[in-house]
Amino acid sequence: MRHRIAVIGGGPAGLTFARVLHRHDHPVTVFERDPAPDARPPGGTLDLHENLGQRALGKAGLLAEFQALSRPEGQAMRILDTDGTVLRDWKPRPDDRANPEIDRGQLRDLLLGPLDVQWGRKVTEVVPVTRDGVLVNFADGRQETFDLVVGADGAWSRVRPAVSSATPQYTGVTLVETSLDDVDTRHPGLARLIGDGSMAVYGVNRALVAQRNSGGHVKVYAQFRAPLDWHTHLDGLDLADAEAVRSSVPALFDGWAAPVLDLLRRGTAFVRRPLHVLPVSHTWAHVPGVTLLGDAAHLMPPLGVGANLAMVDGAELAESVAGPGDLDEGVRAFEEQMWARAGRWAKITAAGLERLVSPDPAQALALFDEVQPS
Ligand SMILES: Cc1cc2nc3c(=O)[nH]c(=O)nc-3n(C[C@H](O)[C@H](O)[C@H](O)COP(=O)(O)OP(=O)(O)OC[C@H]3O[C@@H](n4cnc5c(N)ncnc54)[C@H](O)[C@@H]3O)c2cc1C
Repeated sequence: MRHRIAVIGGGPAGLTFARVLHRHDHPVTVFERDPAPDARPPGGTLDLHENLGQRALGKAGLLAEFQALSRPEGQAMRILDTDGTVLRDWKPRPDDRANPEIDRGQLRDLLLGPLDVQWGRKVTEVVPVTRDGVLVNFADGRQETFDLVVGADGAWSRVRPAVSSATPQYTGVTLVETSLDDVDTRHPGLARLIGDGSMAVYGVNRALVAQRNSGGHVKVYAQFRAPLDWHTHLDGLDLADAEAVRSSVPALFDGWAAPVLDLLRRGTAFVRRPLHVLPVSHTWAHVPGVTLLGDAAHLMPPLGVGANLAMVDGAELAESVAGPGDLDEGVRAFEEQMWARAGRWAKITAAGLERLVSPDPAQALALFDEVQPS
């Protein structure tokens, strides 16, 4: 018997899950709240690790296409002191395929392929056990039932309350994100400063990170420890007013080298991203017919693994439910495996955030030296 399976959310977790099921010829319905794939900017670049995101793409049969699209040179990492001195300048070997970068939009399109996503279908609630299966309520008032509902709907999941009362908590660190376009022609000095991959500067309780995407696009993240409502204390700073942000956010990095601050001063639009996390070892009592993947299950600080884990979750759950065994037993076994893996990474990333945005900037450099291959 073919199970009626729905996945809520068309991010890395949900699309990988659906794509691996598709490869196993198992039907699945993907519900995504965005009205279209390009309804909002897709976000920055992602590095997909050989043993995580790339392994998941292998299970979807998409590894060769990923290798053609991805940017191995984007693995380069440079660290500067706040006065602009280069402290580390790491470049990958030409054959290094450990963590190549890919734009989020390219990854989404690669995973979408032949999938038939129901766009503009925002889920409001999932009710676990009804006589017909699991009930899904939509914002447009419609209802549908399934044998298995998979919550891959990110940090503020509407599926999570069906299995867990946990809610994301603020870490005390906020990002302000901006971007630069055509950096090689319009800002050649900044292009040289950033190099082929990422560049980071660490100061006391703050950091500035710039990451190259494809096509000369650069994402810049100002990171600092601050109360959740920090911007309301800056004379009512309106984050939609790019001119006002351009003049006030660099002041948080007072005394830093001018070219570094230019990364912010030349930014276009600004977005505030307070970092929230779920408890480090978030688990739940198994609920038949409902489970969670990715950020919905284990939201952690963005230290380069969230999308990777989301994709591995998606691929493993798909293989588990596509098999001949009992559906519920397959989901239970998957959850145990996901919780163990996510728990390990949640500890690592929580400790990492403490060191990267730290009162002692030497901690960030030490962390880089511990994890970077020499
Ligand atoms: C600044 C930043 C940089 C990052 N860099 C990296 C990196 O380099 N490498 C890495 O591995 N990770 C990175 N991450 C983490 C990564 O973005 C997430 O872990 C990853 O996107 C999680 O994937 P997901 O599919 O679980 O959730 P999401 O990507 O959040 O996708 C959830 C999807 O569900 C949809 N949705 C939400 N609610 C509903 C609803 N009610 N009904 C229907 N659909 C809904 C959303 O529209 C979205 O499409 C970064 C995160 C941030 C914030």
